[in-house]
Amino acid sequence: MATYIFGHTTPDSDSIVGALSLSYLKNQLGEDTIPTRQGNINPETAWILEKFGYEAPQLKNSYAGENVYLIDFMESSQSPKDIDEATILGIVDHHKLGDLKTDAPLEMWVRPVGCSNTIVKQMFDYYDIEIPKDIAGMMMCAILSDTVIFKSPTCTKEDTKACKELAQIVGIEDYKAVGMEMFIIKSDVLSASPRELVLRDFKDFNMGENIIGVGQLEVVDLSVFDTMKAELKEEMKKLKEEGGRHSVLLLLTDIMQEGSQLLAVSDENGKIENAFDVQLDSDAEVWLKGVMSRKKQIIPFLEKQF
Ligand code: MG
Ligand code: MG
Ligand code: MG
Repeated sequence: MATYIFGHTTPDSDSIVGALSLSYLKNQLGEDTIPTRQGNINPETAWILEKFGYEAPQLKNSYAGENVYLIDFMESSQSPKDIDEATILGIVDHHKLGDLKTDAPLEMWVRPVGCSNTIVKQMFDYYDIEIPKDIAGMMMCAILSDTVIFKSPTCTKEDTKACKELAQIVGIEDYKAVGMEMFIIKSDVLSASPRELVLRDFKDFNMGENIIGVGQLEVVDLSVFDTMKAELKEEMKKLKEEGGRHSVLLLLTDIMQEGSQLLAVSDENGKIENAFDVQLDSDAEVWLKGVMSRKKQIIPFLEKQF
């Protein structure tokens, strides 16, 4: 029986590439694994797959009775609905400890680094398995994406080291330029609907009794949002109602200015303000200087409030 490997809902490049890279490694180690995904491929990931000639993993949303490895998440809110009926053989992740439970011992590769693919690179090294060029290229891009070309406060020396070594395998010298090319693709938000944009990199978190949804869009120039903010907020309101969420937040991250415009739709704006020690303006927005990481600079502060 094959084992499935997949990342979180609304998958990002780390989740998709991680499923592919970890599956390749596991197969080399004699396991029979199949990479899958829980949602649509975003434009950045599509660009990475195309650049290195890979097909997207197959879409699969139900895993009852299956053996699985999780990569890039360990929260029930980011899992398939029937995850409780699957057997989790292992987790490779770089997030906070989640709320998933298992019946049996499992393999855990969890490290506080900037990208799950950095951990997969370390696994390849640990098992002394060679990484094929195309997979190395995709892993390099996943690291550049998750660490925002090493600018994110989540980025560690291990990430830069892994990224450099992967670039060497692919034979790419100026890997930062590849990262920039990728972020310019990511900044093309005009061709997507407001709903697609809010959901492009969106995660729900269970905090106390509340569901808090937090989306993030990383661009090279925030002015691309000038004409569409009102529409984005409309979609955030709808998402809040539809999902019974307490709050829907959207981070518009400017990777050049290194900060984020926070848009809030919440039952309690005061809690959002307290979390970040700021005041929202009359449009329920605020500029958070230096804030680039949802994982490290947003979620822990919300957790404290809720
Ligand atoms: Mg991710
Ligand atoms: Mg990640
Ligand atoms: Mg990210």
